[in-house]
Amino acid sequence: MDEGWRIRVRGQVQGVGFRPYIWQLARQMGLRGRVFNDPEGVLIEAAGEGLTAFVAAIPARAPVLARVDAVLHEVAVFDLPDGFEIAPSRGVGAETRVTPDAATCPDCVAEVFAPGRRQGYAFTNCTHCGPRFTILQGLPYDRARTTMAAFPMCDACRAEYEDPADRRFHAQPVACPECGPRVWLEPGGGDAVAGAVAVLRAGGSIAVKGLGGFHLACDAGSGEAVARLRARKRRPGKPFALMGTLAMIRAVCAVSEEEAALLRDPAAPIVLLRKRAEVLPEAVAPGQAVLGWMLPYTPLHHLLIAEFGGPLVMTSGNLSGEPQVIGNEEARETLGGFVDAFLMHDRAIARRLDDSVERAAPPMVLRRARGRVPGTLPLPVGFEGAPQVLAYGGQMKAALCLVKSGQALLGHHLGELDEALTWEAFLAAEADYAALFDHWPDIVACDPHPGYRATQAAHARGVPVIEVQHHHAHMAACMAENGWPLAAGRVAGIVLDGVGLGPDGTIWGGEVLLGDYLGFERRGWLTPVAMPGGDRASREPWRVALAQLDAAGLGHLADELFGTRPLAVLRQAIRAGVNAPLTSSAGRLFDAFAAVLGFDGAQTYEGEAAMGLEARARPDGVAYPLGGTQGNIETAPLWREWARDRDAGLSAEVMAGRFHAGLARGFAARARALVEAGEADAVALSGGCFQNALLLDLTLAALGDVPVLIHRGTPANDGGLALGQAVVAAARAVSG
Ligand SMILES: [Zn+2]
Ligand SMILES: [Zn+2]
Repeated sequence: MDEGWRIRVRGQVQGVGFRPYIWQLARQMGLRGRVFNDPEGVLIEAAGEGLTAFVAAIPARAPVLARVDAVLHEVAVFDLPDGFEIAPSRGVGAETRVTPDAATCPDCVAEVFAPGRRQGYAFTNCTHCGPRFTILQGLPYDRARTTMAAFPMCDACRAEYEDPADRRFHAQPVACPECGPRVWLEPGGGDAVAGAVAVLRAGGSIAVKGLGGFHLACDAGSGEAVARLRARKRRPGKPFALMGTLAMIRAVCAVSEEEAALLRDPAAPIVLLRKRAEVLPEAVAPGQAVLGWMLPYTPLHHLLIAEFGGPLVMTSGNLSGEPQVIGNEEARETLGGFVDAFLMHDRAIARRLDDSVERAAPPMVLRRARGRVPGTLPLPVGFEGAPQVLAYGGQMKAALCLVKSGQALLGHHLGELDEALTWEAFLAAEADYAALFDHWPDIVACDPHPGYRATQAAHARGVPVIEVQHHHAHMAACMAENGWPLAAGRVAGIVLDGVGLGPDGTIWGGEVLLGDYLGFERRGWLTPVAMPGGDRASREPWRVALAQLDAAGLGHLADELFGTRPLAVLRQAIRAGVNAPLTSSAGRLFDAFAAVLGFDGAQTYEGEAAMGLEARARPDGVAYPLGGTQGNIETAPLWREWARDRDAGLSAEVMAGRFHAGLARGFAARARALVEAGEADAVALSGGCFQNALLLDLTLAALGDVPVLIHRGTPANDGGLALGQAVVAAARAVSG
């Protein structure tokens, strides 16, 4: 028997090359012992000199895809081998985790562009990079349960796979041109990448099969090519994402160190970057001050961008509003009308994952999918013993959330459930996550809105349902992401959002909530104003502007601005309360302000008007006032001040800036007062409007030195709703 240390490592430590890393580290330090996976992560049994230094080195030099949450050790007595070995996994349910997909690592990129057996090979990967969740068909994660099962390893790949000193040790998708998937161009023969580039150079578009689905690509520098793709896809205005090298990006956008680091993150998200010059055609992202860029993240992308030599539009391959296409046959049928060629491959995509969309400063996630999912979040202190919970999220930006074993797993972005195919994908994801993670909820959580399909699915589940008010869920998601303990004090939530059902039957969305995980009080709300035409008012901002101006006693300005619209009919509907529900939504207030500054007609995508308002805003230090002393946060003073500025001939840019500052200061003052009065211990900022970086910055500035919780790794919009629902339901369960 030997005396030594039993060392427990928790975090994202399986399937990331952690055991070979420990094996190498232990051998370098002359230790004896073993390392293996078990249900809690990685366990090490080691003996020898320098165990303290060994434990200290573990997190410091961990593999790039690993995330070490904790390294704990205790003295123990065990039988150890003479050297150090990687031992078989132990325990039921070991290796039940899988990491997100990761961008091709620098070593693999170098291999693809250097002479050798993987030169030019589009599926090169190793333990530090490559596909994971998008090829996963079952757990535990090994090749037989991935879409790589169809490709038996050749001897050379197997030798790498079995050598602990090789960076492909146990890299499940390891492959080479001898044994792995292949890429081809349809129609066409010869070199697939060269053929694809010829189509792009001629101004054509191609469908490119990626990790989590197909992209549609065209030359981002060609106004004609971009316009043709927009026309074919019937997508008039929604910004296209772009792909290029860092040098290509820097020619168009300003890139800070933080932004460069986020671009290079193994998750390889689309990063929103401010334009510094009008280099690319306006049609890439009409009316936007920012562009969404990603670096090439598969070897095929690297080969394509290198051969083409310039940036490409890389927008998701789908029909407008429908889910991204993932199958080859499906792509031929669905995308055939959009593209001149297909850059295909024969590795199946097990699961559709859109590109994640993020910002670096301030850090935020606008869409959470490839590269981030299925990463988990440890539940805060106090949630120990929480039952299994499945939360169904909202109707827009749908995503599921699973709670199990002290972790919350926020699932990938699924889209808008109004769309039939997205609804099918939602139900498929529900079954997929249950099977993969062996998840059988004791409780389900959902939004109270009876019209949400996700709510209907939750109630159909046949287990106890907890309904969580929409904006309380937003606030709770922000608290959970920040590790706010269950028993900690109350938080003042500023929730600025689109629309969500309030318990009083009206539609909320511009709220100050005071509460904790278990419940809340509504302590502030924007003046409720009609949405004439119901859902149409969300698409046509002038409708809400009419209601806002009339309510502020500025009806004559509505006549002047929107005189060609059927104002009399709508005013009648508002007075009679016919199809004109009241809302305190901050999102609709943004829409209304965009309309008075000239946003005309209907939005072609959600958030278009508000994003345009953010893009043009130039704050000058002045803020429009919000009124009211009790709960109601009056918007009339804001509108009256705007009317004076308009008469004085101020620019739309300055007025948009004063609008942002007005909302930020008005809400910050309310929340700050709750903290200063001792009613709340911190302020939480959530809701879709906080994806507006200017609003977030101005609100943080107005809050000053008050403790503030913000979203960083989970979406502030409805994409994060399920996390909030899940933790509220879990809190109620553990609090009895
Ligand atoms: Zn690699
Ligand atoms: Zn091979």
